[in-house]
Amino acid sequence: MIRRSRRRRHKPEVDCREVGRVLQSYLDGDVEDDFAAKIGAHLEACKDCGLEYETYRRIKTSLAAKMPEVDPAAVERLRAFGAEITGDSPEA
Ligand SMILES: [Zn+2]
Repeated sequence: MIRRSRRRRHKPEVDCREVGRVLQSYLDGDVEDDFAAKIGAHLEACKDCGLEYETYRRIKTSLAAKMPEVDPAAVERLRAFGAEITGDSPEA
């Protein structure tokens, strides 16, 4: 009878490669909480990754600042335009 070995756990610490891979998801809040905590700890401890994180964050923030919110009138126009093409009523 073959005993199944326990599934190997993830390393407690994430390494730089892993952080780099998930950095964007981390910024978007798309990673699990305990994983996010590990990444956060790494970013604080690792200067390189921390710097990269700052850069990503700044880009993201500046992008968001350029379009603070979508103009509802523009959305309406776009919707009307789409409706014109498809022949649907503008009210979806
Ligand atoms: Zn690192």
